[in-house]
Amino acid sequence: MRPFVFSLPWKILLATISALLCMTVLQTSLGLMRMSEEFDQQQQVKRESARQQYLQQNTIIEQQLRVWLESFSDLVQLSQHPDFSVFIQHLAEQSANMQLHLNIEQIWLHNSDMQLLFNSGQQTPYFSPTLVQKVLKQQSPSTINLCVQSCVKQLSLPVLNASGEVAVMTVTTTLVDILSALHQSLNSDVALIRASKSATGKINRELISSSNPGLIKALLQKVSDLEADLALSEGLELHHNGQQYLISAFEMQSQGVYLTVVDNISDFVATNNGYRRQLLITSVFLFGGMVLLVYLIMRRISLRLKKLSQALPLLSQKQYAGFRQQSQFDASIWPDEVDLLRQAADELSIELEQLNHKVEQHTNELEKVAMYDLLTTLPNRNMLQYQLERMLSSQSTENKFLAVLFVDLDDFKRINDSLGHAQGDKLLKLVALRLKDCCGVNDLLCRFGGDEFVFVLPQQADADAPFRLASQVLQRIQQPLTIDQQNFVMTVSIGLTISMATPTDADDLIRQADLAMHEVKVNGGNGAQAYNLDMYQRVQQRVLLEQDLKEALLLNQFSLSFQPQMTIATGALYGFEALIRWRHPSRGMVPPDEFIPVLEQSRQIVPLGYWIIEQCMQQCLSLLHSGWHHFRIAINLSAEQFVDPELIPTLKRLLDKYELQGSYFELELTERTLVQSIDTMLNIMSQIKAMGIHFAIDDFGTGYSSLSYLKKMPMDCIKIDKSFLSGMLDNAADFQIIASTIAMVQKLQLQVVAEGVETREQLELLRQQGCDIAQGYLIARPIPQPELAGFLEEHFPKGIWRAQSL
Ligand code: C2E
Ligand code: CA
Ligand code: CA
Repeated sequence: MRPFVFSLPWKILLATISALLCMTVLQTSLGLMRMSEEFDQQQQVKRESARQQYLQQNTIIEQQLRVWLESFSDLVQLSQHPDFSVFIQHLAEQSANMQLHLNIEQIWLHNSDMQLLFNSGQQTPYFSPTLVQKVLKQQSPSTINLCVQSCVKQLSLPVLNASGEVAVMTVTTTLVDILSALHQSLNSDVALIRASKSATGKINRELISSSNPGLIKALLQKVSDLEADLALSEGLELHHNGQQYLISAFEMQSQGVYLTVVDNISDFVATNNGYRRQLLITSVFLFGGMVLLVYLIMRRISLRLKKLSQALPLLSQKQYAGFRQQSQFDASIWPDEVDLLRQAADELSIELEQLNHKVEQHTNELEKVAMYDLLTTLPNRNMLQYQLERMLSSQSTENKFLAVLFVDLDDFKRINDSLGHAQGDKLLKLVALRLKDCCGVNDLLCRFGGDEFVFVLPQQADADAPFRLASQVLQRIQQPLTIDQQNFVMTVSIGLTISMATPTDADDLIRQADLAMHEVKVNGGNGAQAYNLDMYQRVQQRVLLEQDLKEALLLNQFSLSFQPQMTIATGALYGFEALIRWRHPSRGMVPPDEFIPVLEQSRQIVPLGYWIIEQCMQQCLSLLHSGWHHFRIAINLSAEQFVDPELIPTLKRLLDKYELQGSYFELELTERTLVQSIDTMLNIMSQIKAMGIHFAIDDFGTGYSSLSYLKKMPMDCIKIDKSFLSGMLDNAADFQIIASTIAMVQKLQLQVVAEGVETREQLELLRQQGCDIAQGYLIARPIPQPELAGFLEEHFPKGIWRAQSL
């Protein structure tokens, strides 16, 4: 698996760190926000209390003045005097006293016409006449704060004499007292500041009075217009000389004059900053601690998961106990999903182990069935494949080779068909036992299938060893066998091959041995042959031929030739044998012996055979039309075609189609065809005979047909093979065979055809022996179908062979 960049703990850790970071930042900023909110609130409270105290002081001074002035008028008994002279006299007497005790700066008395009746002095000549008029009008006391050079409080109070005249007594008292009272009660510096706009629009700030003029002036210089508004609305923080100040301002009753409270909040700010720092540090520590905790927890989970995943491949290697041991980890105090997973994996491994055990058991049983042949108990084809591959891979190359022998029983099919499968099986068992006797300790013997057996000789150093084994097998098998009191003599064909230096695979070796075995079969069986490259090339040629034949069938490249047959005694035309011809587009004429076996093997001979039969019928029709009446056409029939279910219906159909009698035709069967079971043979033959068609046995003497066998069949004719003819003049044995065959066949009242008559001597000898019919180059070569009519006219005038009399 690709190594990963982020393991599970890291992923979770990263996620946790992000979450924690967010939480910490949120929490800290919330805390900080609250702290600054609290700070602001405290400032607000302070500002508010300054404001309240200021108002309170104002009211106290006002009330104090009012009470005193009222009690003063009562004391003077103004209401009992008809004018204000006594009152003014008292005022003059008491004014110094009042200035001293009540902080009153100046006293005025105006009559209702605003004429000044009394003035205590000239030091502070300003007061507000408007307020006096207002009091006169409203007849109730009123106050106002006035700031010119300094700030004073003016109180105007109506007084009434006995004659009902109203005068207004006005006093002013300095506001410095309020400032100092505020300074003391708030423990803050206070100042009165006037703000006025100059012609240029600039705002001038002027300090009227202050508890700490130096500081206030320095601060004032730093404050911009914008900041001044801030100071009015919510307070302004300023840094000066390493100290932190909070400036709050309120507008006084007198316009443009502001009461300003300046607090040194350095300590407070320092404490606040200390808190902030603490909060931050705590958050950072908490954050770090939690990250560490998560990492430790995740690390443990990850280690356990890793251990489990490292152990898992052991399951695929079937090391179940090893897996359980390796996947083990310390029991957790608090079990979790990983423990569950491990437990499940453990249970799975136990189940897998049991399952594997069962599978192995079944595999063994299946292997036995799959790898051994039930009949002979020999290893079967599967085992051969497996073992051969194994042997090939472990074969040491130095001077050692591996040999494969392919053994096939000759004519086993005939025995099986004639005696039945049960007997066939018994025979196979006996053969297997004999083969086993020949098999060496290190050699492998298998039943490849049917009647085929394969020997494998691994690690061979002696080149003769496979041949010795082959001849041993040939000898051993040839010894007579007895099954149910019946004696048999079997033979085998053996093909052998050895593994060369070049690497070969099991299939190739078997194929080579099989090819060599077929070569033995073609040469009559009962022998052994080693594979060689020619065999391979022949097979290749055969494959090419097969392809060409497929094309030939499609493109109608076939034609027929007819070879005349003659009655020896009279020289009269007896009939013809139809022989197939193939003109290959590049190779020219290809002999039938070469392509007929190929067509027979692929069963393509069957449709071609029907075409030949139809051609023969057409030829028969044309001969009849030309006036020939005494002839028969011999048609070669392959074994495959003889048993084809379509044969009988097709023959019937074609005879009907061309309105011909069956007696014009003869079917030539080879001894290979007669291998079929006797019942099948008789059944087919009798149906064909019923159509009037004759039967001939072709190539007589080359096969194994016994006379007793022949007797049972409805045969009409026997064709002596041309191989006997060629040797009859020089070879006494061949002559003897021909002579005895003729004599024997005639006893059976069958006709004899001698094939391959090439010389007059042969013909004469045959005549002497009483042979009925001759066929051969002497009389005529096979004539291509279109030329037949002309040929007959020339060489068989009036039906008699022209050369007869020569
Ligand atoms: P076969 O049935 O034994 O045919 C006779 C063969 O002997 C023919 O060879 C013929 O040309 C040849 N022959 C005739 N007279 C002489 C002679 O005086 N000397 C020599 N040396 N040979 C002679 P061909 O035509 O090459 O056929 C070979 C084999 O091919 C046939 O042997 C037959 O088994 C098979 N065959 C030919 N035509 C057909 C066919 O139409 N159907 C089937 N199934 N097989 C056919
Ligand atoms: Ca023939
Ligand atoms: Ca023949």
